[in-house]
Amino acid sequence: MNIHEYQAKALLKGYGAPVAEGVAILKVEEAEAAAKSLPGPLYVVKSQIHAGGRGKGKFKELSPEAKGGVRLAKSIDEVVAHAKEMLGHTLVTAQTGEAGKQVNRLYIEDGADIARELYCSLLVDRSVGRVAFVVSTEGGMDIEAVAHDTPEKIQTIAIDPEAGVTAADVAAISKALQLDGAAAEDAKSLFPALYKAFNEKDMALLEVNPLIVMKDGHLRVLDAKMSFDGNALFRHDDVKLLRDETEEDAKEIEASKWDLAYVALDGNIGCMVNGAGLAMATMDIIKLYGKEPANFCDVGGGAGKEKVAAAFKIITADPKVEGILVNIFGGIMKCDVIAEGVIAAVKEVGLKVPLVVRLEGTNVELGKKILNESGLAITAADDLDDAAKKIVAAING
Ligand code: GDP
Ligand code: MG
Repeated sequence: MNIHEYQAKALLKGYGAPVAEGVAILKVEEAEAAAKSLPGPLYVVKSQIHAGGRGKGKFKELSPEAKGGVRLAKSIDEVVAHAKEMLGHTLVTAQTGEAGKQVNRLYIEDGADIARELYCSLLVDRSVGRVAFVVSTEGGMDIEAVAHDTPEKIQTIAIDPEAGVTAADVAAISKALQLDGAAAEDAKSLFPALYKAFNEKDMALLEVNPLIVMKDGHLRVLDAKMSFDGNALFRHDDVKLLRDETEEDAKEIEASKWDLAYVALDGNIGCMVNGAGLAMATMDIIKLYGKEPANFCDVGGGAGKEKVAAAFKIITADPKVEGILVNIFGGIMKCDVIAEGVIAAVKEVGLKVPLVVRLEGTNVELGKKILNESGLAITAADDLDDAAKKIVAAING
């Protein structure tokens, strides 16, 4: 789960990290009061969308010469003028895809005088089984490009979970970032604070790009991207409240309500399966026969009829889906429950594309009987191979 920059900064501020003062607004009329509450004379107006690259982004509705999704302003009038241009408009960045994202919220911030822009992120480094700092002096830009062109400019410092961020770790990070003076002093509290926030809130990623050295020599968190481990959200009610569903894929939200694992892909065969292994095998065999999955929805083990119906509806709601393959190996899951769920969903939303069903396992005979007697145009398959061939043939034919 991702949150907005202004929320991430508020969270980090609670851990003592240096962030600018700022106010989030939803309406143009709020811009003036927001700016007046800040010290000035430099302000920053920042689009709040769940995507990076906003500064270099372009608004669809504005001329190509217009400024991007992060703008500096030298007066309160300028803040208001920017807010008018930005709010309600669609920002296209390298991360949003061509459709872009509508800017529904702005963050008006006290502007900083920047001396240097650095990169600092924390993530779980699986190769060493530790949380690691990934840092670079090349901040403010696309870190993937830095990693590709000049990998030697990125350094990784993994943290021993028993010791936490030691003085030696801080020194290593500071050296990698070439920090000295006031910035090196600030580093002694900032890096342990980032690590503490990352661990306590069960983050999957914390990216500060850029972390800046200001002209006065101090550090400031200028941008913050935060992702949380979905499997740990149950123990963070405060984090759950930060969720902005308008930023998320509608089908993924619906799936998460039902506790379904739904993944959108690029092809045109919708897949309903139970279990991650069977999902992978199903996708592999679809590819083997020359097609690509449009998605897969894993209904898991103990799903009831309603959950199966919800899964089927989510799969069919994708306009890319030209055919559906239901591939179930019923262990804990019962085949008759799958059959009833599919029928319930089809009764509600109809069936406009070919459907191939392969059932195996607990109550398989009953499941097949229910499907046969339903009067629906369902193609039954004997095994996984047969099922994949049949759905590919149905789409091609
Ligand atoms: P992103 O483009 O979505 O990553 O948004 P950022 O928050 O990283 O801002 C993009 C760029 O805008 C930064 O790299 C800075 O160069 C610039 N910027 C953002 N805030 C300030 C500020 O307070 N002062 C100045 N001078 N530049 C800023
Ligand atoms: Mg940034």
